[in-house]
Amino acid sequence: MDLFTYKNDELYCEDVPARQIAEQFGTPVYVYSKQTVIEHYRQIATAFAPVNPTICYSIKSCGNIHICKVLAAEGCGFDVTSGGELYRALQAGGDAKKIIYAGVGKTDEEIRYALEVGIAAFNIESEEEAENIDRIAGMMGKKAVGALRVNPDVDPKTHKHTSTGKKETKFGVDIERAEAFFAKYKSLQNLRIGGVHIHIGSPVYEIDPYVQAVKKVTALIDRLMLEGHHIEWLDIGGGFAVNYMHKEQAKPITEHAKALLPLLAGKPYRIAIEPGRYIIGNAGVLLTRVLYRKIGGNKRFVIVDAGMNDLIRPALYDSYHYIWPVRPDAANVPTERNREHLPRSGEIVDVVGPICESSDYLAKDRPLPVVKRDDLLCVFTAGAYGFAMSSNYNNRRRAAEVMVDGGKAQLIRRRETWEDLVAAERV
Ligand SMILES: *Cc1c(COP(=O)(O)O)cnc(C)c1O
Repeated sequence: MDLFTYKNDELYCEDVPARQIAEQFGTPVYVYSKQTVIEHYRQIATAFAPVNPTICYSIKSCGNIHICKVLAAEGCGFDVTSGGELYRALQAGGDAKKIIYAGVGKTDEEIRYALEVGIAAFNIESEEEAENIDRIAGMMGKKAVGALRVNPDVDPKTHKHTSTGKKETKFGVDIERAEAFFAKYKSLQNLRIGGVHIHIGSPVYEIDPYVQAVKKVTALIDRLMLEGHHIEWLDIGGGFAVNYMHKEQAKPITEHAKALLPLLAGKPYRIAIEPGRYIIGNAGVLLTRVLYRKIGGNKRFVIVDAGMNDLIRPALYDSYHYIWPVRPDAANVPTERNREHLPRSGEIVDVVGPICESSDYLAKDRPLPVVKRDDLLCVFTAGAYGFAMSSNYNNRRRAAEVMVDGGKAQLIRRRETWEDLVAAERV
């Protein structure tokens, strides 16, 4: 579900024409729909309501403070992966008691900061990290709480760069070592390990990998409890896929819930979930303007003003993003939903950015309606890992971000300036 739809032959975000946003705020620009963000959060909360889960939004997917505030107001907690993300979550008014902190390489400084502000729990990824958190908490006179991130060794069938729950990825501790881990660290003075965490990858399209992982980990918890460990919560991670194109058919969260709830219901411990993409993926788009067209060999190129520094997913993971003109010719206005794939009349093009790298593309060999200089294109499903992964490469200013709420479009991050580009440097 999303609220980017074609009305009167042009694209709207909620009740605002995309064209108007591009004119007012310039391009490239990320545009988010507030109602879509809220709707997706509520879908998850409703689907998993029978186990009353703690939902922690994965801030790394899209961390704009305004967006985090919208979610915090819904009662959402946060999943952070660095000290910077923790700072961001707190700036957004996030409740430290609902913040969990994952990541294989937490520094002493980051651990101290998290203990100072009193986060809910660390998701612990190694033996050495557990010992270090215990040591730092002891020095500070604090009591730390943690969950062990277990690597359940399932194949999430996602891109190798985004698979995290198979053996031989750097994440978590092998499930065979989990019991020894709990036994070894049962009586640490300053760190209480009271939970188990998994996160198998992202995006995960299939339900079965979650089912396999949850089965393995609930069985592990049963054994741990028999061995006398007190387990208070299970965090099943995030990774729930969204539709990047029509035919992928990512499963709605209700389907995941239907398969997982029987495995989770009635357990004597709480359930946490860490969705990122599912909440923000389809709630954001990237608007970009056509700069030039050209022909090279047998290829036609459409050169746009957004590049891999703005949206790196195609270059990094070969990701597919549906792209369509904001104001298509009458024959090519998408009907039904806005994910139509083949133009009734058009051409096959590569949509590329201005950056000096051959991998700087947004789409390859893509059938599109014919577009010309100054036309606007919309790159759909760009909300997650879009702005969040953007950079200043080629000394490009990072894009503006705009939030639409009904008929209102509000700037929630200004476009960077050339001064911003050099501001941190010392000559
Ligand atoms: C990235 C990440 C998530 C969120 O993944 P999504 O695909 O955005 O839902 C959740 N938990 C952990 C530990 C992560 O690293």
